Amino acid sequence: MVVPPKSARPRASMIAGTSPMRYLVLSDVHANLEALEAVLADAPAYEAVLSLGDLVGYGPNPNECVERVRSLPNLTSLVGNHDLAALGELDLAAFNAYASSSAEWTARRLDSEVRSYLGSLAPSLGCDGAFLAHASPRDPVWEYLETPDQGPANFHRFESALGFVGHTHVPRVFQETSSDEPSHVVMPGKDDEIDLGDGVRRIVNPGGVGQPRNGDPRAAYGIWDTEARTFAFRRVPYSFEITQTKIRSAGLPHVLAERLAHGL
Ligand code: ZN
Repeated sequence: MVVPPKSARPRASMIAGTSPMRYLVLSDVHANLEALEAVLADAPAYEAVLSLGDLVGYGPNPNECVERVRSLPNLTSLVGNHDLAALGELDLAAFNAYASSSAEWTARRLDSEVRSYLGSLAPSLGCDGAFLAHASPRDPVWEYLETPDQGPANFHRFESALGFVGHTHVPRVFQETSSDEPSHVVMPGKDDEIDLGDGVRRIVNPGGVGQPRNGDPRAAYGIWDTEARTFAFRRVPYSFEITQTKIRSAGLPHVLAERLAHGL
């Protein structure tokens, strides 16, 4: 399982063939421009970018965040459930009240260019030997991948050694165990680096850029190094007070501002 099937890397040739490279891995930017800019300023050198979806929803700068991510080099980008909701492609009844009112707010503000870009994206994709899904490999739009028992059915849905997901906004690593046993789940800390070269299949969640939810308000992201075969979890503080002010003055639910201070 260490060598991924060709079918799992359709985008590799569009980026740089099989050349080793470092990917900046972002997920759940959620229209938080201050968090996104802090991540981009903090990130060490990279040659390509993975965005795992939910560029918009909750936050006050949806168009700016989409355009900023689109400007990044060698971008591979997924659509998430909040992006789909803002496009009117998901039933808002499935969202809580804060999520649905922010989706409606976002839908009214999306530029047509940004709207058509988000509409062109898929919720799962192969890239450079990894499988990417916004939520989970078996349900790329909705499933919250959180507990060890969810592992086996998800590892069965892709063949490569490495998968990336977002959606929960919590940094987490699922490691495949033998046969159909529950996965081993690791909650990494800041600056933890995992070795991807040991033959163990993994699903990695870098955490959320724009709305972290593991009790740490700092923006979360990661660096995937295909040459060193490592993934590094990183956190960076940002001025969430600025984002909070924008959220309140935009008329978005105030709870969406308050949670940024607590990383919840
Ligand atoms: Zn999200």
